[in-house]
Amino acid sequence: MKDNEYYMNIAIREARISLADSNPPVGAVLVKSKKVIGKGRNITFLKNNDLKHAEIVALFDSIERYGQEATKGATLFTTLAPCPMCLWASVIMGVKKIVIGCNHDSREDSESFGSYTVNKLLEMMDKKIQIELDILESECADLWNNWLHKDRINK
Ligand SMILES: [Zn+2]
Repeated sequence: MKDNEYYMNIAIREARISLADSNPPVGAVLVKSKKVIGKGRNITFLKNNDLKHAEIVALFDSIERYGQEATKGATLFTTLAPCPMCLWASVIMGVKKIVIGCNHDSREDSESFGSYTVNKLLEMMDKKIQIELDILESECADLWNNWLHKDRINK
């Protein structure tokens, strides 16, 4: 298995835990020098805090474990393309690369997020982070889209 798939699978596992806890299924992993330095999952419902996105939780996990220098030059793996908040937090913390499972255009609710792409946002922010898209894309998209359907059925 290639490195990208290996780490994305860890992020997917995190996303599945989110789902088991009735949160939106998003998982994130921070990797530096092939080592996982932080893990996170969406816990917005669990913590009743809309800022607790997977990527933010992973950044905090890494900072708490290794200090805030650790995130500099790290790669962030996330099952869903990051929102502007998480993207900017990654910029602040010196993340050099973001590997994305499902991009916004694969989300069935993509309209709710506007028409931006991560690259367009980075351009607006005038910041450079290397972006790699569509790693285990269908698995990540299914996770999100199935949750959307389930959520709608339950309402
Ligand atoms: Zn976010």
